[in-house]
Amino acid sequence: MKQFEVLPAVQHFLSQPGRLFIGGSWQDAAAGRRFAVENPATEETLTEVAQGDARDVDAAVAAARAAFNGAWALQSPAQRGLLLFRLADLLDQHREELAQLITLENGKPISAARGEAASAATIIRYFAGWPTKIEGSTLPVSPASGAPMLNYTLREPVGVCALIVPWNFPLNMCVWKLGPALATGCVAVLKPAEQTPLVAIRLVQLIEAAGFPAGVVNLITGLGAETGGPLAQHPDVDKIAFTGSTHVGRLIAQAATSNMKKVSLELGGKSPNIILPDADIVRAAKGAADGIFYNQGQVCTAASRLYVHASVLDQVLEELERHATAHVLGNGLDPATSMGPLVSGRQLSTVKGYLQRGQEEGAELICGGGRPAHLERGHFIAPSVFLDRAERACVAREEIFGPVLTVMSWTEIDDLVLRANDSPYGLAAGLWTRDLRSAHRVAAQLKAGSVWINCWNVVDAASPFGGYKQSGWGREMGKNVIDAYTETKSVFVDLA
Ligand code: NAD
Ligand code: MN
Repeated sequence: MKQFEVLPAVQHFLSQPGRLFIGGSWQDAAAGRRFAVENPATEETLTEVAQGDARDVDAAVAAARAAFNGAWALQSPAQRGLLLFRLADLLDQHREELAQLITLENGKPISAARGEAASAATIIRYFAGWPTKIEGSTLPVSPASGAPMLNYTLREPVGVCALIVPWNFPLNMCVWKLGPALATGCVAVLKPAEQTPLVAIRLVQLIEAAGFPAGVVNLITGLGAETGGPLAQHPDVDKIAFTGSTHVGRLIAQAATSNMKKVSLELGGKSPNIILPDADIVRAAKGAADGIFYNQGQVCTAASRLYVHASVLDQVLEELERHATAHVLGNGLDPATSMGPLVSGRQLSTVKGYLQRGQEEGAELICGGGRPAHLERGHFIAPSVFLDRAERACVAREEIFGPVLTVMSWTEIDDLVLRANDSPYGLAAGLWTRDLRSAHRVAAQLKAGSVWINCWNVVDAASPFGGYKQSGWGREMGKNVIDAYTETKSVFVDLA
């Protein structure tokens, strides 16, 4: 097997087991346990990482609470902003190292990992501007007594936030949540996915280097039920922000009722992508292929249902097959690779199961469907396209989280909109057209948190992101997320 060079800093990082970060100190799990982190391209162990449990969670929550009541509360908004700006600079300075860690543990191509690392700095820099701009209002109240009365609102940090993140964007999912938490003056216990704890550990080392006070950010690595479970139950956690499966999101929402934690959830999707007959078909087909194949299809907003107008179906299928078969699968560290492995053997067997069931249930396999023959090791699956005329197969309805596209055709726009909205999910949707009128009319009718017109997977720190229906609760990014990490206090002053 071909070996790929990594930076000396990455070699050094991997030469030691990963540890927990609690109250400003790096430590082993209280129970002394560790688990192995696998490279999904080679199936080799990269290093071992502390396997935390409820005891470590208790210690991390206590450290976070102490920082919230102590050192962190004393920092001015401008000081919080400065620390975040410093962190953004450190993320830029260490971009290549972070990108290599992402590729090693997640499998994605190094170019995509570099993009993720660059975007992490951009997001932190956006949130660095917020602390000095979070403000209340003075309100024109009308007391029945007629007494002169002043009313104003204060925006206060929610408190101790548990941040539970998935493995598909192992760095960005951390900063999407840490950015607003730290900007608003909250403190955090971060729980990365067990598949991808390494870049999260490196991120927290950079947070430490930026000079955040001890206890403001704590890191617990470990398995979902053993660490995320106790965080969701914990009586001294004020808020929980989660991205991952709808199944676990539901468990977290239930556990959060113990002390009525504030909950934000970003869950799955089965997002409809629509090609209108007047679209630039070549561009639309390329956009559709990228929309599903990017990140090996392991994206909550993956464009996994494609609705193509019947008049252009053959042309689009041809283009899709061309894009799918052009992908070069391999180790993400190889600059020639355009598609890496899936994150784990478990994810691979889930995707393979869908490829088989899809065919059993009558969907026609246009291309892909199995493991590329030239790759002996690693969790690889070829980019695959189904055509499902009846739109009844599981591959047309369920989230697969892999590079599997299901194409349907349509003829009548009102019926199409009903079909596009007929899903328990509502995360994203998109359409390709040159007609301004259809573009805005259909965008308004789609039940989804993000609608992309002639593009896909565009996200921006300034613009809200989140789901309708079972795709989640609340919005991340933009000023919406600042609301999600603050409490609003109304103060009345009797001036009589
Ligand atoms: P998951 O929901 O189990 O894991 C996400 C995070 O939740 C991880 O940090 C995990 O450790 C933690 N977790 C797991 N069980 C927990 C529990 N009982 N309490 C608290 N935290 C817990 O996702 P998965 O098993 O890695 O992937 C399964 C499916 O989830 C995928 O096939 C995909 O459909 C979906 N998924 C969605 C996203 C997304 O971006 N929305 C990301 C990853 C996975
Ligand atoms: Mn799971």
